[in-house]
Amino acid sequence: MTDNTRYARQIQLPEFGEQGQAALAASHVLVIGLGGLGCPAAQYLVGAGVGQVTLIDRDVVEATNLHRQGLYAEADIGRRKVDAAAERLRAVNADIEIASQHTRLTEAVLKQSVAAADLVLDCTDNFPSRFAINRACLAARTALVSGAAVGLGGQVGVFRNDIAGTACYRCLFDEAGDAAERCEDAGVLGPVVGVIGTLQALEAIRLLAMPGTDTQSHWLHWDAKTRGSRHHALQRDPHCPEHTSQSA
Ligand SMILES: [Zn+2]
Repeated sequence: MTDNTRYARQIQLPEFGEQGQAALAASHVLVIGLGGLGCPAAQYLVGAGVGQVTLIDRDVVEATNLHRQGLYAEADIGRRKVDAAAERLRAVNADIEIASQHTRLTEAVLKQSVAAADLVLDCTDNFPSRFAINRACLAARTALVSGAAVGLGGQVGVFRNDIAGTACYRCLFDEAGDAAERCEDAGVLGPVVGVIGTLQALEAIRLLAMPGTDTQSHWLHWDAKTRGSRHHALQRDPHCPEHTSQSA
């Protein structure tokens, strides 16, 4: 398919339109982590017509992933996630340029991959990776959509590193703070990560295709127990060490 027929239902939205579709087609999004968050995020971005998507992950598919990681089937157990995900995503939308890297998140990998992208989605599950991704995005002044989900709740942060003076991920979290709870230790319901990963894709589409609505960093907390959510704008922490060497 080379025309825009498949995108008709989103193009008909006045908030999105032909202009939004063209903006997505011209965009390159980096998705780091192809687990419970990265699967729905990548699926919706590829479905929506983001022109280039790069996937980074170092894991293989395991049976315990299948209840929440919808890009994988039973036959994928033992395969690299990036390979199985790229194959599935290309089958969904052959027009998208999909690149993948099966690698650890070294500083060099991050620097190169973030520099090539217009927007980064952090779909990882641990603080060291999140801090490293934040640092790379700050250095490149690239916006970051960060997700986290465990148990029955989750968060989505949008960090406008592309706008001077905004809050970064490190403004919110202390590197010496508590270790992140991880799904493999604490458990999680599949739809909970599905909600958060889908919200990451939604924020990415807003940022790329519906510009001008958000000019600062913001944070959403969503909780399945109360069926409630809280959303607020974020202010830069004047003591955040990540900004001391940055002019922005
Ligand atoms: Zn900061």
